[in-house]
Amino acid sequence: MTKIAMKTPLVEMDGDEMTRVIWQMIKDELICPYVDLKTEYFDLGLENREATADQVTVDAAEATKRLGVAVKCATITPNAARVEEYGLSQMWKSPNGTIRAILDGTVFRAPIVVKGIEPYVRTWTKPITIARHAYGDVYKNTELQIPGPGKVELVYTPADGGSEVRATVQEFDQPGIAQGIHNLDASISSFARASFEYALSTGQDIWFAAKDTISKTYDHRFKDIFQEIFDAEYKARFEEAGITYFYTLIDDAVARVIRSEGGFIWACKNYDGDVMSDMLSTAFGSLAMMTSVLVSPHGYFEYEAAHGTVQRHYYKHLAGEETSTNSVATIFAWTGALRKRGELDELPELAAFADRLEAATIATIEDGQMTGDLAAITTLENPTKLNTRDFILAIANRM
Ligand code: NAP
Ligand code: MG
Repeated sequence: MTKIAMKTPLVEMDGDEMTRVIWQMIKDELICPYVDLKTEYFDLGLENREATADQVTVDAAEATKRLGVAVKCATITPNAARVEEYGLSQMWKSPNGTIRAILDGTVFRAPIVVKGIEPYVRTWTKPITIARHAYGDVYKNTELQIPGPGKVELVYTPADGGSEVRATVQEFDQPGIAQGIHNLDASISSFARASFEYALSTGQDIWFAAKDTISKTYDHRFKDIFQEIFDAEYKARFEEAGITYFYTLIDDAVARVIRSEGGFIWACKNYDGDVMSDMLSTAFGSLAMMTSVLVSPHGYFEYEAAHGTVQRHYYKHLAGEETSTNSVATIFAWTGALRKRGELDELPELAAFADRLEAATIATIEDGQMTGDLAAITTLENPTKLNTRDFILAIANRM
């Protein structure tokens, strides 16, 4: 059999622990037998981040700017315990944070929907993707505990020496609390563009919701920026693609999401996205079935699984015990990247391969062969619980 050729390489970011083990199996058993895989390889495993003083993470992000599409394995974000475990010279920053800062992106999280792993909401037959704005608001706030009577104000002092602007937050006649938050037009604009680009690239409608009726300046600014950018840059392209942009109040959006059948993107302000993405991933069944993609407004894409390195399973694996770790989200990170590469390079057979691998993965589960996390929650009768390797081999068999 001749293998499918690639033109531009993918940026391949290897990672840590159990997901690193899965990474190699996916390449060996599911991709390399069919695709003449071309990648620029960056080892983001913690040992190599230490050895390169984390330069490898920066290099991988820069390569993504050059090549456009990356696939990333889960990586350890060091904490005090990891500094000791790996003898680190520093508590290196989260690789995802570093990459996001360089690519200036928005994170989209989408569940993988299969029969037998049923969403708690019966009407959801298609995935709902959350686009979370990842800058500002309450995540970069300034807070005060107010000990007793007194005035709290917002004060803006123009850098060019113009006159000060003051607004009273509250005249306190008793103890209380106060908070200052902010956002930036540039960050909101980049969030809007990434959301609209992703809607176009996946052919799905997009919703955005805020509380502009109550927050007439702050939330209203989000609404206005989305609408201005949509009208000026995306309206015609959306019409051509047959998709829509829909703005509604956040509480109306929540009610409509529950009644919907899914199949759209829900752009959320930072806090809404934090809360709603946890609700959606649980309601769709499992964190191990959630994909994540970072989309930059400049058109770079970085695909990964939403879960971490599955440390507990890795220690069992090291001890020679059998593991049953779910590789679905990591497989879909690869298929997402290969499909995007196929689209950009006009290689329909590469995109079709990604479709086929996804279909084989889903069919394997729907046929009752799955890892332990899914076997525990499936509505299918008599599921077969497979170990980490045998699940991947079952998919290979079907391919
Ligand atoms: P985790 O790796 O997501 O795993 C937490 C638990 O969720 C696991 O112990 C397992 O439960 C279950 N689980 C997650 N993914 C699974 C899968 N594919 N198959 C089966 N079960 C799965 O989170 P963590 O243990 O809190 O974090 C481990 C490391 O990952 C940390 O060092 C953290 O920094 C890193 N992390 C990286 C990323 C990223 O790179 N994007 C994201 C999050 C965390 P059971 O043990 O009950 O089976
Ligand atoms: Mg959260």
